[in-house]
Amino acid sequence: MAEKWTNYKAHQRLVNPKNKLKLDVIVVGTGLAGASAAASLGEMGFNVLNFCIQDSPRRAHSIAAQGGINAAKNYQNDGDSVYRLFYDTVKGGDYRAREANVYRLAEVSNNIIDQCVAQGVPFAREYGGMLANRSFGGAQVSRTFYAKGQTGQQLLLGAYSSLSRQVEAGKVKLYTRYEMEDLVIIDGRARGIIAKNLVSGKLERFTANAVVIATGGYGNTYFLSTNAMGCNCSAAMACYRKGAYFANPSYVQIHPTCIPVHGDNQSKLTLMSESLRNDGRIWVPKKLEDAKKLQAGEIQGPDIPEEDRDYYLERRYPAFGNLVPRDVASRAAKERCDKGYGVNNTGLAVFLDFSESINRLGYDEIMQRYGNLFDMYEEITDVNPGKLAKEINGVKYYNPMMIFPAIHYTMGGIWVDYELMTTIPGLFAIGECNFSDHGANRLGASALMQGLADGYFVLPYTIQNYLADQAVWPRLSTDLPEFEAAEKAVDAEIDRLMNIQGKRSVDSIHKELGHIMWEHVGMGRTKEGLEEGLRLMKDLRKEFETNLYVPGTKEGLNTELDKAIHLRDFITMGELVAYDALHREESCGGHFREEHQTEEGEAKRNDADFFYVGCWEYQGSDEKAPELIKEPLEYEAIKVQTRNYKN
Ligand SMILES: Cc1cc2nc3c(=O)[nH]c(=O)nc-3n(C[C@H](O)[C@H](O)[C@H](O)COP(=O)(O)OP(=O)(O)OC[C@H]3O[C@@H](n4cnc5c(N)ncnc54)[C@H](O)[C@@H]3O)c2cc1C
Repeated sequence: MAEKWTNYKAHQRLVNPKNKLKLDVIVVGTGLAGASAAASLGEMGFNVLNFCIQDSPRRAHSIAAQGGINAAKNYQNDGDSVYRLFYDTVKGGDYRAREANVYRLAEVSNNIIDQCVAQGVPFAREYGGMLANRSFGGAQVSRTFYAKGQTGQQLLLGAYSSLSRQVEAGKVKLYTRYEMEDLVIIDGRARGIIAKNLVSGKLERFTANAVVIATGGYGNTYFLSTNAMGCNCSAAMACYRKGAYFANPSYVQIHPTCIPVHGDNQSKLTLMSESLRNDGRIWVPKKLEDAKKLQAGEIQGPDIPEEDRDYYLERRYPAFGNLVPRDVASRAAKERCDKGYGVNNTGLAVFLDFSESINRLGYDEIMQRYGNLFDMYEEITDVNPGKLAKEINGVKYYNPMMIFPAIHYTMGGIWVDYELMTTIPGLFAIGECNFSDHGANRLGASALMQGLADGYFVLPYTIQNYLADQAVWPRLSTDLPEFEAAEKAVDAEIDRLMNIQGKRSVDSIHKELGHIMWEHVGMGRTKEGLEEGLRLMKDLRKEFETNLYVPGTKEGLNTELDKAIHLRDFITMGELVAYDALHREESCGGHFREEHQTEEGEAKRNDADFFYVGCWEYQGSDEKAPELIKEPLEYEAIKVQTRNYKN
């Protein structure tokens, strides 16, 4: 397996430089995956059309990534290697990822760091000038490269500068504030898209020899999530409706360290980076009466002395402590809160405390590492987590942060093969929108790694294997009946939504969807809950179809209309998540079926029956249940076993 990628590259078909000039590639998305792919394909000589919904590629959701990006450089000399990154990723994903893809990801991870340093990405450095590392969950080594709490932003600026160079060179044409509404298939191959100019409201047709989707994840199906408000799954759903399989939709990541929900009028949740778990310790009170007093506001966290604190992750998982993977940490928080030990007035929060590390390393050092995250927390909650609050028996206690799990990332996505091609020839999917390399749970700092691996180092090879024989075909006209039919269908659908003229806003229906998803398809799932969730979503779809109100007109800028289109697709996506979760009678990674757990409350996999990628095929209507197709997993390098973070 270690040779597979090298062998692939040695034997794949190539496109000669003259032919590259004749070939057009559409890349939808300018996040880390899309921008890196578009820049690389432009540099190679292809003609690239690059789309995004924001006013600048730099505003893609990737800019929000805080904590870091993994690579197996082993700069710390702490035992890291390509194999260990590969192994940690497969284990972290609860043995539900494809081995060969993950190995390739680990293999190219080191190239990403070199590439980004060459672009000028200002990674944090040690005093002596070496690139610094910190630890993220699910690993016992320090392999995470970072730029303070702004890693995504700095990486995206790097990718954007490469992209801009290609725009200037005329190899990439940027279409900002354009939204892909549909995929055009001609003779069974992806040959173009229908996109809406979000400013004029007009639909436009674009043709190419291949289409690459890099449109991010579907976390906003849950309404409240850490994702940017504009994140949506509409392009992915358009591909799914045209025949692309959707894989493992139930693998949704719930991140343990987010600022808790504070009310029903909230539209966004904020992540506190996992990097904080390097030095922050997670705890709840040991005594129920202390938890009750905290919930009633009678005492504060710093009033509780060391001996009465339950550092439950360190207690339950001594080998990994606060750095267990996200699914494990989230479930452990839920378990404490369900038993009544939660803090905050809701009882739905736990503490993330820096007292020990500030006492050990000093305030300045902690600020150096996490200053902007502390500021962000204070701006949102009005609590300064670095402020000295109390001294008990000579021990200084600082204000802790309060955190709670929230929807953050989606491991499921459009199914792709080893070449990142979907089930539709000529349609590729990269970054978070594909079903990716993370199995049932992604390790922290591995999404940026995957997005950039796909865009800089994998797709630029594999797409050539597809494009090699495409240069002989003349450029297709957008007047072909397939383009005509696709545009008409999108236009009719927009008219339909505009004409419902009911009473409910998009957000009110979306919020209801979010409640259904969190209650029934969230952290703890059961057969009954999922069936009820599906029933409620079917009712909600009816409500959407009959009682939606979209103000304004379809001409010109109409963000409510755009949100309505997204919501239509989130409902279909929500059902897809529920169908997958219902059929998967096991617990693995982020998918926790309460019926399938060990006596200690850990996820209990069923390898005998579910050792496969669950792919879902559209059946011609959003109202029909999709059909399941299984891709069996085959492991040759790693022994499949029960995950253990205890010893
Ligand atoms: C708060 C937060 C912090 C994170 N921190 C980290 C971290 O520290 N490390 C890590 O590894 N991961 C992190 N992640 C995850 C990581 O940021 C994402 O998985 C990753 O950035 C996704 O990149 P992408 O290129 O696949 O998609 P995105 O960055 O979401 O980009 C999607 C692109 O597609 C475009 N688009 C979408 N739909 C359409 C359409 N229909 N038509 C045209 N264009 C469209 C958008 O305009 C955008 O350009 C974090 C996530 C969050 C929410």
